[in-house]
Amino acid sequence: EKAREKKVDFLFYDDYIAGEITRESILKRELRLAIDNENIDAIHLKYQPIFSLKKKKIIAFEALARMKSKFYGEVSPVEFINIAEKNQLIFPLTNLILKKAFYFSNLITKANSTEIRVSVNISGIDLMQDNFIEMINNNLVLTGASPQNIKLEITESVLLNNFNLLNNKLEKLRKNKIKIALDDFGTGYSSFYHLDELSLDLIKIDRYFLNKISKSQQDNMVIASIIEMIHRLGLEVVAEGVETKAQLDYLLSNNCDLIQGYYISRPVNKEEALALLKKDWSGLY
Ligand code: C2E
Ligand code: MG
Ligand code: MG
Ligand code: MG
Repeated sequence: EKAREKKVDFLFYDDYIAGEITRESILKRELRLAIDNENIDAIHLKYQPIFSLKKKKIIAFEALARMKSKFYGEVSPVEFINIAEKNQLIFPLTNLILKKAFYFSNLITKANSTEIRVSVNISGIDLMQDNFIEMINNNLVLTGASPQNIKLEITESVLLNNFNLLNNKLEKLRKNKIKIALDDFGTGYSSFYHLDELSLDLIKIDRYFLNKISKSQQDNMVIASIIEMIHRLGLEVVAEGVETKAQLDYLLSNNCDLIQGYYISRPVNKEEALALLKKDWSGLY
């Protein structure tokens, strides 16, 4: 324990004498330590249920990475994932996250049902690596998790270039029964151009769309049309960021397949996730 502390301080001392102590440099060091030494529990996962409106039950959990910094406490994934991406740490970090998520998949499969998937967010940089599929397969072998219990979430921006190369990878993963979701649909780089050629199973509508429900009829029509379009593509729709009963009711009446958001549950730890699987949802709607 003491020796490890020393090592941490020594590493920061390097930055200190170079006059380069910044929040980013410290978080970068901490990430590297967490990746190299899994006993340093700086990275852990929370799990948020994804709820089927048709089946009225939880059918998946999204794994969401959390970082507890020695110096800054809880750090948002938006910040530390970005730092990892900028410093060649994202691939080994994703490897660690996949392993943890796959072990969690085994846990819930054993405790509950084989029909539940665990969804892992994948950075565009990961998908670009030649050995990306190898990393997935290695973790399946290592953990014994089943591809039928795994889902990967990707964002569209990376697909704009290298479309064929990356789409082939998605196809390969799907042939092996892993599901692929397109995350944050409707934000940033979204384009409808390649949507019908992409090898996908689901599309997740970004939560910013949900803010608008019950405020303006125009926006409601936009969401309804997006749901319809996704269905026409033969894909399932997940609405992200469902926080209110009004939003849930709207999505129900517009045929949305799956919802995720604080109205069902915030991201929770393993034990709480297992408890959520036993919860009775019959009174929800
Ligand atoms: P995302 O993949 O779109 O994840 C959904 C985010 O929305 C999560 O934020 C979740 O906590 C939040 N959320 C869920 N329901 C609600 C709701 O009802 N209301 C509101 N206001 N927020 C809700 P989080 O955990 O802070 O993650 C932010 C983003 O960081 C993720 O967006 C994802 O892009 C990235 N991220 C998180 N974990 C990982 C990871 O393991 N790997 C990678 N590459 N990225 C990750
Ligand atoms: Mg996601
Ligand atoms: Mg999202
Ligand atoms: Mg995202």
